[in-house]
Amino acid sequence: MISATTKIYGIVGRPLGHSLSPLLQNSLARATDTDMIYVAFHVSENIETAINGAFELGISGFNVTVPFKTDMLKLIEKIEKKAKKIGAVNTLVRGETGYIGYNTDITGLEMSLGNNGMSVKNKNVILLGAGGAAKSALCLAIENQAKTVTVINRNIKKAEKLKEEFSRIYTAIEVLSLDAVKKNIGLLKYDDYFVFQTTSVGMYPNVNDCIIENSKFYKKCDAGIDLIYTPFETVFIKNMQDQGRKCINGLDMLILQGVASFELWNGIKVNREIIENIKKMLLKDLREKMK
Ligand code: NAP
Repeated sequence: MISATTKIYGIVGRPLGHSLSPLLQNSLARATDTDMIYVAFHVSENIETAINGAFELGISGFNVTVPFKTDMLKLIEKIEKKAKKIGAVNTLVRGETGYIGYNTDITGLEMSLGNNGMSVKNKNVILLGAGGAAKSALCLAIENQAKTVTVINRNIKKAEKLKEEFSRIYTAIEVLSLDAVKKNIGLLKYDDYFVFQTTSVGMYPNVNDCIIENSKFYKKCDAGIDLIYTPFETVFIKNMQDQGRKCINGLDMLILQGVASFELWNGIKVNREIIENIKKMLLKDLREKMK
């Protein structure tokens, strides 16, 4: 029951029409008997005004999504160490005088790999993409002592910028253009890559698209994750499986980053059974949406 003391949370971004976060967070609140509601705030223009106003209104916290994850760094007074390192914020927790920024994307990604028996320790890693999600994957690879990281992106300048940003803490980064790799798979030096597919290619409704079609690419990979979760099985995942490679989708990451935000806001630990039940419900909802 909503009352005068019910805490209000939400997600800021645009577009939000397909966001699963309201369903996820409100289900977590119900399952843990937490007095909160969570709504989608479509911010069309001025995020600074929106966040300042929200603080004055007493809103307890936010998830932050595209296109505000980086801009948010300039708008809040305190940023947790990991979010600062990644250069992106996806969670705001209300503090005394303003919001404090966190990044739970990397937590969600790390836990989803762990839950599926995957690790990048001592591995040669490929990042397909150089956007916000690639940044989280790069941080994770560095923190988990990947041997090398090869960033492959359509826009090579963006990949070079990513390399430059992390060059102080990690030097084993190589950058390749997507076009060059498509023309010559031999540019990839190893045969055992762990690959993070972090581009939006193959995402609903463009479900027949794939970032790289050449089967030689998949032969060079050992295992991987496609961060997309609509559809559950992208052409990229199918191509990996056709070569006998294990590849998971991004649904666990999505759920686990949301759970990590919920835990930060409420200071509680969500148990595994609740997470599994919510996963089943989200799967049902996604299947309906994709019909
Ligand atoms: P972003 O910052 O906009 O980056 C998009 C990336 O995709 C860029 O590297 C871009 O390359 C590449 N790309 C887009 N269209 C392309 C095309 N036609 N051909 C080649 N490359 C293309 O987006 P993001 O925030 O990193 O998100 C990327 C994906 O990850 C999305 O599908 C998103 O849903 C997913 N994601 C999932 C989770 C999860 O919890 N599972 C969390 C975060 C993100 P250019 O630089 O060349 O444009």
